[in-house]
Parts: sequence; C-alpha cells; structure tokens
Amino acid sequence: MTTPATPPADPGRAPLTTLGGVGPALAETLGKLGLREVQDLWFHLPLRYEDRTTVVPIADLRPGDRAQVEGIVEHVERGFRFRPQLKVIIGDDSGRPLLLRFFHFRKSQVDLLAKGARLLCFGEVRQGPQGLEIVHPQYQRIEVDEAVLVDERLTPVYPTTEGLGPRRLASVISRALAHLPADDRLELIPEEIGRPMGLTSLRDALLHVHRPPPDVDLRQLGEGTHPAQQRLAFEELLTQHLTLRRMRAAVKKRKSPALKSAGTLHDGLLAALPFALTKAQSRVSKEVARDLARAHPMLRLVQGDVGSGKTVVAALAALAAIESGYQVALMAPTELLAEQHLRNFRAWLEPLGLEVEWLAGKVQGKARKSALARAAGGAHVLVGTHALMQEGVSFAKLGLVIVDEQHRFGVHQRLALRDKGAEGDLIPHQLVLTATPIPRTLAMSAYADLDVSSIDELPPGRTPVQTVALSNERRYDVMERIHAACMEGRQVYWVCTLIEESEQLNAQAAEVAHAELTIALPDLAVGLIHGRMKPKEKQAVMDAFKAGELAVLVATTVIEVGVDVPNASLMVIENSERLGLAQLHQLRGRVGRGAIASNCVLLYQNPLSRLARERLQVMRETNDGFRIAEKDLELRGPGEVLGTRQTGQLQFRIADLTRDGHLMPEVQRVAEAMIKDHPARCERLIARWVGDAARYVDA
Ligand code: ADP
Ligand code: MG
Repeated sequence: MTTPATPPADPGRAPLTTLGGVGPALAETLGKLGLREVQDLWFHLPLRYEDRTTVVPIADLRPGDRAQVEGIVEHVERGFRFRPQLKVIIGDDSGRPLLLRFFHFRKSQVDLLAKGARLLCFGEVRQGPQGLEIVHPQYQRIEVDEAVLVDERLTPVYPTTEGLGPRRLASVISRALAHLPADDRLELIPEEIGRPMGLTSLRDALLHVHRPPPDVDLRQLGEGTHPAQQRLAFEELLTQHLTLRRMRAAVKKRKSPALKSAGTLHDGLLAALPFALTKAQSRVSKEVARDLARAHPMLRLVQGDVGSGKTVVAALAALAAIESGYQVALMAPTELLAEQHLRNFRAWLEPLGLEVEWLAGKVQGKARKSALARAAGGAHVLVGTHALMQEGVSFAKLGLVIVDEQHRFGVHQRLALRDKGAEGDLIPHQLVLTATPIPRTLAMSAYADLDVSSIDELPPGRTPVQTVALSNERRYDVMERIHAACMEGRQVYWVCTLIEESEQLNAQAAEVAHAELTIALPDLAVGLIHGRMKPKEKQAVMDAFKAGELAVLVATTVIEVGVDVPNASLMVIENSERLGLAQLHQLRGRVGRGAIASNCVLLYQNPLSRLARERLQVMRETNDGFRIAEKDLELRGPGEVLGTRQTGQLQFRIADLTRDGHLMPEVQRVAEAMIKDHPARCERLIARWVGDAARYVDA
C-alpha cells in the first residue's frame, strides 16, 4: 500500500521563529526590514564587505581605506570644545600614530581605552586636522601578549535597522543559510533556460555572496561583477520585470471605454494648427488612437526629445476621448508645466467649443469649488498638478488620463489618478509623456508595464545649437556678444539658476542679474520673468518677448518648460555647473527653434568638479537627447535619473542598472519564456524577491 506523497514543506517559507535563537522580539525587529520567512534572510544580501582578514600597519593606511589596525594606546584626551569628545591615539611598530575620535562615549569606554591598552580596531580612515584618524571605529581590547585572531573570510555588511547590531544580524542570516536546500528545491529559473546561459547555481551564488571564500576576486566582488553576484542580479532584474509585466497583464484584463470617433474634432484641430504634423507625430498619434479604440486600457508612454511636439499628440488623444463623450485629465508635475499645458489646450480646444478647466494646489476657495463642480459635471478637460489626485476631485466620466513628465511621478501616483476614473468595471486609458528620453536599458526595466512610442524626429526648420562653456570671469565678453547678437535682430535668454529649490532665491538672483544687464546694455530692452510673479504678469512679459519688444529676457528656470520664441537664438545659462544634464538639455531646448543658427553659453564658476566638467563637455558635444540621457544615467545612476520618487520600484538589493543594464535583453527574453511555460515559478520568484511590496501590483 502506498500513501500519497505529500510534498516536503518548503524550508524557505518557514517563519523566522523556527530558527534557533530567534524569539518573537527579534522576529519583530527583523520584520522591520521586511524579513518574515527564512528565505527572506537568504535573499537579504550584503551591501558591501569589510576586510578583517589582515591587520594593516598604520603607516600603510591611506585616507578612504576601510581597514583593520592594531596598536597600543599612547595618549588619551577628553575635550569639550563645541561638544564632548574623546581622542585616543594608538601606535604600532610601523612608527606612525593614528587618532581614534569618539563623540559619543560612556564612562566604561573611557576606562577601557586607557593608556597602555592594546586595541584591535576597524573603520574608515580619513584625513583629519592632525593626520590620519578613524571616527568611531569598531574596536575590541586584547591582551598585550595575546595573538591577534583575524577573520578567514571577508565580513559581509548587511542593511540593518535600529536595535539590530551587525553581528547579530549576520549570525541570524548564517543560521538561516544552514537551512538552504539543495539546488533542485531552490532554483526557480528552469534548467533548460539557465544551463545554456551558463548561470551559476543559485545555491552556490547565495553562499558565495554571504560567505565569500578567502581566495575570492576582491575587485570583482567590490564592483559587483562576480559571477555569483551577476547570477543574483539577473534573477532580481528578471523578477522586477516579471512584476511589472504582471501588473500590466492585470490592468490589461480590465475594461476601458472603447474611444472610437469619427475624427471631427481631430480634423478640426489639425486644420487650425499653423503647421503639419511630422511623420513621427502622425505615426505615434495613430498608435495612440488604435489603443484608445480598444475596450481594454491603453498603457502607453510617448517619449520624444525636447521640442519634438508631444503636446499636440496628447491633445489629439484628448479629442478622441472627448468626441466619444468622455472627459480627460492632464497632470503635470509642476505648476508651470501644467500652466503651459493649460494655455496650449485652451488655445487649441476652446475654438472647437470645448471646456478646459484648471486645478492646482494654489487654486483654493471658490475657484476650487467651482473647478471641482465642473469636473464632476463633465468639463471636457481638467488640467493640473498633483492636486488632481486629491480627495474631493471626481469626474463625471473620465476616459483618458494623460501624465506628462512621468519620471517625476511614481507608479503609485499614476495608479491613483487612474483609479479616480474607475467607473464600475471601466478604468480610463493612460497616456504618459516624457520629455527626457530614457536610456533604452532603463526604459526596459522601469516601463515594462507600458508600451513605448517614440517621436524620433524634430519639426522641420530647427538648427542644432552650438554650445560653449565659459568661466564666469568671461561674463563681460558674453555681454558684448549679447549686444552684437541683438544688433543683428536676435533675441537672448539669460537664465539664472541656483542650487536651492527655492524660487524665492532664484527670483532674487534674477532681479540682480536683470539690474546688472540693464546697466551693461543701456541701449537694449531687458525684461525679467520668474516664478514669483503673478500668472498675468508672466504672461505680459512673455508676450512682449514674443512680440520682439524685449531684446533680452532674464529668467529663472521657469522657462525650462513651455516657452517658445523661435527668434530667440542665444541662451546664456549662469551657474551651469550646478545643473544636471537633463535640466540643461531642457533649458537649451528653448533655443534652436527657428531657422536661425543658435548658440548656448554655459557660464560656470571655478573651480569645477570633475563631474561638472564632464557634464559641460557632454553638452558641448551633442544636442541629442538620447545620448545625453545615456550619459546622465552613467554619471548619476538610475535612481536619480528617474527621480527619487520613482525609486520605490528601482530599489534593488543587488542589481544596478548602470552596471547590469546589459542583462536586460536577456532578462526580457527569459521573462517571456517563463510567463509562457512556467507561470507558477514566476509567482514564486515575485514572492521571493518582492514579497509584500508586490501587493500594490494587484491594486
Ligand atoms: P515637447 O515635446 O517638448 O513637449 P512641444 O509639444 O512643446 O514639445 O512642442 C514644441 C514646439 O513645437 C511648440 O511650439 C509646438 O507648437 C511646435 N510644434 C509641434 N509640432 C510641430 C510641427 N509638426 N511643426 C512645427 N512646429 C511644431
Ligand atoms: Mg512638453
């Protein structure tokens, strides 16, 4: 007689309290790190490693080293300048002293660190005012005649939380690793996929990163390029990709109104525009229209360089929704960008008899009430900022959500606005616009839930901008150049930037520059615009500049978005060294809009950092937004490029898109094969790597 075989319990799914030494209190602390099951500990990976396998002679230390040293306390000093301080000087046979500096210390420590005591210390060496020092080293006291015991392996350093010391965490993880099963019970990437790729086995990879063997290649390990790390990075990227694909599949199953229209409004707008669409705009617009006509939600990202004309494409999509009897919400991350959209949409849609409403945080009281009432009552378009997602905002019949500058919003925010429009089973279509072209590897990872359309062509008649970088000492030469350009009938932007996010300080800087230029260029009309001015005042200044009544416009980065004066062909950017590539590119995109050859002068303050120098160099070399975006990714890393708010889905444990982006094509291929043939394994991968965080995916 045979009893039916029950599958053995998965040791990875066991609660942490099944591990020796883990009681409810420790389990709760571990829970703060998202660690709930034994397998969570297996996949809690080291951030870095410390080398305590050797003792470094003090004389060999260099600033920046993280090293283990050993020595006798030669001198102890307690200071109270500014704050209590304990300074302990140790020395070894190498003949150089090392200062150990403590700002927090107890009496018991002072006793322990007495003159003549022998210490084994570990920490980061830095250059202090009196020579090399370590602030708050880890230390232990050893007997003078005791042999120093060094570690055999590198010490992994894990991300931890308050109340959980590094040693305690390492020891719990070590206990969990004892339960690591053989590979056939651990491996979720099917063998027929993994073997041809030469993937290291998962068990080996995990043991390797948690307990690197003594002969491990330290350089590889430090860079994260060791095959064991790459194996784990691959699985993590694969899982992140699967998560987004699953989210997409879940949304795609839902229903949206099929927005089919005769195209009357569409044709009406095209007839009224002073230009014809570029080929790229027509193509993308058709892709969008095709999506909208389906009874399932569109999830489409339109990316295109600054000035490629994404707004018109968005407006055409809006018209399709409106003609089918639905409303449109258009959300932008800043008030200025939203205002610009409002202006465009009003100019284009009101002549067609449509109602465009406005809602931003600033809109309060009566105005807010009436905007909300009109949105609920069926206004055709509601344009605004984050305010659109707030409570109290509701729509009569929302069919399409357009989000500009997506990378500044997180996935959650995108979903929140979408859910505003949920009506019974129907959810609105989603169109996402991004002005900063995203490097391909990043797009593959961050936007795996979206279809991507590219407007890969600029409207005709634009000339590439010539860019130079000049030190601020050449400021007066630049003013002469402005004078000459204006004498030729050209117009000039002078952009003031400060590192602070404060528009008030920026506005002050612009006022100062405005006064300076007014004095230096007495025969020219110099205007001023900044974010602290009222919308009406701003509009009046912009109109005057557009009409050619102003030769020079001093501005803050308010002109980063939306300003469009084709005759303006020279831009000077102050403190350009403080701006990121994406922002510089956006700003520069304001010139080069007409047929006249355009120039951009990047003024910088010496001394330049290496990074700033590289950025300015990139700006001089290319006008191509995609190349600039690739470079931006290289210089800043993906979290920054996508904006910090986006990082929720980009916080990897081991993968790094800059380093591991080359894995993405393979990730995509394997993901497809697994979704098709191994859906259950996909779910288990998500549970393993994403766990609770995957919940919003089903939202
Ligand atoms: P972005 O893609 O940066 O959002 P915009 O939509 O603001 O670009 O368009 C930039 C400028 O180009 C606007 O003044 C717009 O009216 C104009 N524009 C858009 N499409 C065309 C076109 N096909 N031909 C000429 N000008 C166009
Ligand atoms: Mg735009």
